[in-house]
Amino acid sequence: MRQLESATDALMAKGMTVFNGALLEPSEYGHVRRLLQLMDPPAGAVVLDAGCGVGAVATLMGAERPDLEFILVNNNEHQAEICKASGLNVHLADFNHLPIADGTVDVVMFNFAMCHSADWFATMREVRRVLKPGGVLFIFDYVRASGDNLVMWHRLGAAAHTNQAVCHSAALAGFRLHESLIHEPAVNRLREVMGPDVFDVVVGDVWPATWRFVRQEQGLDPVAWAMSRHTRVGFQFSGGRDSTAALYLLRPYWHQMTIYHLDTGDQFPATRDVVARVEADLAATGVKLERIVSDVSAVREQFGMPSDLVPVDNHAYVGRHVSGRALQIQSRYECCARSLMHPMHQRMIADGITLIVRGQRDDEFNRPPYRSGDVGEGFEFLYPIQSWTGERVSAYLQDEGLPLADYYDSGARRAPECMGCTAWWDEGRAAYMRQKHPAEHAVLVRNLAEIRAEIDRQYQFLTGEMQ
Ligand code: SF4
Repeated sequence: MRQLESATDALMAKGMTVFNGALLEPSEYGHVRRLLQLMDPPAGAVVLDAGCGVGAVATLMGAERPDLEFILVNNNEHQAEICKASGLNVHLADFNHLPIADGTVDVVMFNFAMCHSADWFATMREVRRVLKPGGVLFIFDYVRASGDNLVMWHRLGAAAHTNQAVCHSAALAGFRLHESLIHEPAVNRLREVMGPDVFDVVVGDVWPATWRFVRQEQGLDPVAWAMSRHTRVGFQFSGGRDSTAALYLLRPYWHQMTIYHLDTGDQFPATRDVVARVEADLAATGVKLERIVSDVSAVREQFGMPSDLVPVDNHAYVGRHVSGRALQIQSRYECCARSLMHPMHQRMIADGITLIVRGQRDDEFNRPPYRSGDVGEGFEFLYPIQSWTGERVSAYLQDEGLPLADYYDSGARRAPECMGCTAWWDEGRAAYMRQKHPAEHAVLVRNLAEIRAEIDRQYQFLTGEMQ
């Protein structure tokens, strides 16, 4: 902050008061007039200048359009004091937490300020809150043509995104694009201040651009709508293809969600590889993957091998107690509940999660227990790819270059959770295991044979009764 304060004073000493990386006209006044034309505020509008610098843009716009009323927001005390000394109405605040009542502003403008937001979607969502119906979000900033933000963020605490990424975030936040324009700068102010060599390295391949969005009243994206109503959101990431597709589809929300992954301790290496890649992608954006670790081996040890059919004589508690059978078998749902669902559920409760997001699809179920938007067990559920087909998921993963475990190529219909699982016979993973994990496959076949012998025994009783 101290650095920003001395930079502010130095720029003002040189006669610069409009702190924009580029000017669209040779003079600051001409530049601001041009911005005003592009922003096109209605007569008598209340205009909020988010990240207002020293108030020069609002002052110059006010001179051109005396009918406008300005509210300024700046999180830097020094710059806010300069604004106040000029008699401007300024709030010392962060533009992600505007001290402004809902639906009270006609226009919110960001002039080379949005670039300092670590999460454009979150900022846009806050803007939507304070705008009146039909209100305008105006952004003047850099648009990225290529490259990334690593050096720019490190040196300037700023980021430039592609036009597609900006428009996508705005649409999710509930805005309709009215106009986006790329401009040839009349003055490349940041380049002049930094020097061309440093500018090229730090800022890279960017152009000045303006976006004019209008607050959308109808048809708000269901994801944006759910996200706007919850502050504790948990994404349950399994490492399977549906889960991966849903997670990357919600990339603009990564910073708003806690992303959980449950590891039973018996995962397929192919799943681990996918999770590692996703974890790296998340880390690159500053998001941590929260791992929940359970112990399926201990569960199988205590309650028996999981199976899709459970002979009553082999069930824990009364069954085995009465029959004396040596082999203990539990149902697959009991085993999954103990090893997966319960630990995950407990963590959601402990973390105060109120919205659970999953990559669940309708065509995976005869009758899904919950559908997107349902509320149950104290949570709301959001399934962003609920209506997608398996083909659409595969196409999405391919188009986006996202990781996919190789067991799908061998005919697995779902992502298998545990290598030593003796249940979920409809998953179709045995061929894959035979080919890629022969030792584990041999153990699996031995265990399945033991289960089948017990099922056959009970089945004989059934057949005998029927004859
Ligand atoms: S996948 Fe199989 S072994 Fe793993 S928790 Fe579920 S039933 Fe148990």
